[in-house]
Amino acid sequence: MTLLRVSLAIRPGIVAALAVLALSATTAAAQQRLMTPAVERFVSVNAAVVALTHARLVDGTGTPSRNDQTIIIRGAQIAAVGPAATTTIPDGAQIVDLSGHTVLPGQVGLHEHTYFGGVKRLTQMSVSGPLLYLAYGVTTAMTAGSQLPYHELNMKSAVDAGVLPGPHFLITGPYLNGGPPRNGMSRNVSSPGEVRRVIDYWADEGASWIKFLGTESREVLGAGIKEAHTRGLRVTGHLCSVTFTEAAALGLDLLQHGFITNSDYVAGKQPDVCPPDNMRVQADVDVASPNVQSTIKRIVESGAAVASTLGVYETFIPEHPLELRAMELLDPDTRREVETTHDNLASSGFVVPQRLLRKMMEWECDFVAAGGLLGAGCDPWGTGFLPGIGNLRNYELLVQAGFAPEMAVRIMTLNGARILGIDSRTGSVAVGKRADLMVVRGNPLTSPAAIYDVVTVFRDGIGFDSARLRQAARGHVGVD
Ligand SMILES: [Zn+2]
Repeated sequence: MTLLRVSLAIRPGIVAALAVLALSATTAAAQQRLMTPAVERFVSVNAAVVALTHARLVDGTGTPSRNDQTIIIRGAQIAAVGPAATTTIPDGAQIVDLSGHTVLPGQVGLHEHTYFGGVKRLTQMSVSGPLLYLAYGVTTAMTAGSQLPYHELNMKSAVDAGVLPGPHFLITGPYLNGGPPRNGMSRNVSSPGEVRRVIDYWADEGASWIKFLGTESREVLGAGIKEAHTRGLRVTGHLCSVTFTEAAALGLDLLQHGFITNSDYVAGKQPDVCPPDNMRVQADVDVASPNVQSTIKRIVESGAAVASTLGVYETFIPEHPLELRAMELLDPDTRREVETTHDNLASSGFVVPQRLLRKMMEWECDFVAAGGLLGAGCDPWGTGFLPGIGNLRNYELLVQAGFAPEMAVRIMTLNGARILGIDSRTGSVAVGKRADLMVVRGNPLTSPAAIYDVVTVFRDGIGFDSARLRQAARGHVGVD
């Protein structure tokens, strides 16, 4: 099984050996950048200079798309962007004619996982996750809590060493929480001293963000945010016990999920207590009401960003069918369990009514209209929501929410890069930035569903064949 070679590669010793190999090979490369066989077999475009010609370009800034554009890639960077008629193609460049295709920036995912919850099995995606993220155009992925943090750190090392294809990862480490452990995998923190100690540990271990999970106190969250910022880390949270406006005032960098998780709207909310009806009462809250609008204003003024995760909540609508494209990627036992979960959704403890999804969309539109910085993330989950495919479902839903297609792309790319503080390097198609791009067949601006037809994904100027990446992940999601 060829994937096994990739799986083996994430063992640290092998990573180190192959990293040396990759390094010595690169210095010898004149035309092509050499890479390890484990990665090379997924590569379809690799040349010192590449010219993508006659493409429709959505550059990530939110400005209208442009037809018949040429993008010159030199090494890992974008060297030129302009009309095909006037952009000079350097001698010796590999020319890729993209007539009938659309080029977009590689996506920047803000709520990514290398496992998924919601089923009883231990469902890892340490290999299939990176393959799928890259296959569907996610070139930067911030994880938002992990089940096995050391699996995730070793996976990131393998990707960085060039022995496992995947996006640039930013890692959060384990979930931090306040109350009883959730799913048995959170690290409980009950005092400022304790949260400082835990954050220091994960900062030393390689985390660049910290994720809170909803039962922490304001005191612990505030101390955690201060400590993380002192160490150069940023903080995100799926909140509940602390409201959005409270967390924003404490300096939280990124609020996950938006409207549905904001306990600001729960009547009689007790300080520091997660009300059991959070994520339910919002279905009957009026987004246009002065109270909701004033919370949006306060969040925007504080500078806290929001990660949109519409797609995963849609999978909690019982009438919403399972996505076959995703089901085919699951290993057989995991697939059976996901199908059972879906069959029993209506009688499970948590469902999302259609009107609540609509209100989430409204709230996100109002947040952006008020000047808020909105990014997006997948949040893979056992309701059949998988890396990459889920990120692209968000595109369709953001367009349904009312965002112009170019703005939906911006939310998924440049805004994400700004939230992560890496927008000078990636997030839009601009000269000097990393050549992190996705190439889609057709026109997703006029036909949003075309967004899934990803052909090639460039990461640092290397073009990966999307179909080969997907094929390698097939049947493995949930196991490795
Ligand atoms: Zn999550």
